[in-house]
Amino acid sequence: MPSLFHRLLHRAAPAILAATLVPAGAYADTGQFAIAIHGGAGTIDEEKLQGELKLQYEAKLLEALDSGYALLEKGSSSQEAVIAAIKILEDSPLFNAGKGAVYTFDGTHELDASLMDGATLQVGAVAGVKTVKSPIALAKAVMDHSPHVLLFGEGAEAFAAEQGLARVSNDYFDTEERYQSLLKAREKLLQQEDGTADFRAGHDALPESYRMGTVGAVALDKRGNLAAGTSTGGMTAKRYGRVGDSPIIGAGTYADNASCAVSATGHGEYFIRYNVAADICARVKYQGVSLAKASDTVVNQVLKDAGGSGGIIAVDAAGNIAMPFNTVGMYRASRSSNGDRSVGIFR
Ligand code: ASP
Repeated sequence: MPSLFHRLLHRAAPAILAATLVPAGAYADTGQFAIAIHGGAGTIDEEKLQGELKLQYEAKLLEALDSGYALLEKGSSSQEAVIAAIKILEDSPLFNAGKGAVYTFDGTHELDASLMDGATLQVGAVAGVKTVKSPIALAKAVMDHSPHVLLFGEGAEAFAAEQGLARVSNDYFDTEERYQSLLKAREKLLQQEDGTADFRAGHDALPESYRMGTVGAVALDKRGNLAAGTSTGGMTAKRYGRVGDSPIIGAGTYADNASCAVSATGHGEYFIRYNVAADICARVKYQGVSLAKASDTVVNQVLKDAGGSGGIIAVDAAGNIAMPFNTVGMYRASRSSNGDRSVGIFR
């Protein structure tokens, strides 16, 4: 019977062979690449989201998708594609990330983001930043230029300054629509909490749309490397320094070349408890199930049964894409070197 060492060697043989045949500086082109993005899930009102507004969402999603795809096509890394796509969504007021981020209870914006590299399992994440124009760019700087994984608040901002990243005043993130959502949320919360010291019931009673938003991207590059990234303003009327799943590796973001790359959107507290992104990748890796089955089981069974609403986008090492959600809709788009290109909001 072959030893474990020989079995592993046998499994790794194609990769070793490819590596030895490739001149230094070049890479083995697998010929396959793919990208998927999301702009949040939740109660997207199909009646309100028609005509011009729907076209605007679809156009912005496709712009982000195609910019990431173009990078992959010319041989850039999955990380670069993920960051490029997310930056476009962060800069758009349509989505709850960067410009257009939701408001905290106190009327400010606190942003979270994370990035993971599937080849090395390197990670960078930031939470509760108020003045960094692109939180995903800061997550990348944490990954590349710090010995740490997750920086928060003022420390993260001092690091952003040292790294020379673009800073803005907090009101740069303002939008009238999100402000109106805050006013409504605050009113509902204060009514619910009247006379009680527990603010949990109020938050749980808020409609799903107050908890939803976030943008994310996952990609497979021509080298066979996966990456995932997520960026968000979090939950409308969040308080006391609340941090959601988006900067928590394993919960809102995960990437491992041995399984898949995942970015999540939804009610973050559930995604943290159920370790959603890592659970999907673990099912692919250890149970050997398909990406479609693993993501569908976690989103539409595990999470749904627990009462957690939201969705995910995922890509595996073979370029398969899955985008399940258990909400009415999820802003999403995907494109792959096999010619598929799609954009969608509702089921
Ligand atoms: N997951 C994000 C959070 O809980 C929000 C969202 O994706 O809609 O902060």
